[in-house]
This record gives sequence, structure tokens and C-alpha cells, in this order.
Amino acid sequence: MYKCWKCKKDIKELDPNFVRCPYCACRILSKARQPVAREVKAK
Ligand SMILES: [Zn+2]
Repeated sequence: MYKCWKCKKDIKELDPNFVRCPYCACRILSKARQPVAREVKAK
């Protein structure tokens, strides 16, 4: 999951040969961490 730096839109799939936001053509993208569904045990 990537996030556009300019328009803040989420980009699920990104072509490694064409790293560009499909919405605004911005080349600056930030990697967004995928939320991991995990059960946290609190002690
Ligand atoms: Zn964009």
C-alpha cells in the first residue's frame, strides 16, 4: 500500500516501472504500512 504525498490518496497496486500517482501524476509516494490484524495480549 502506498500513499500519494500530494493528493493523499491510497494506491493499492503500483507498477515498479511506473512509480507515479495515477490520480495526480505525483512521483512522490510514501509507503503506508498495512494494518496487521493481530491480537495483542495485555499483561
Ligand atoms: Zn496523487
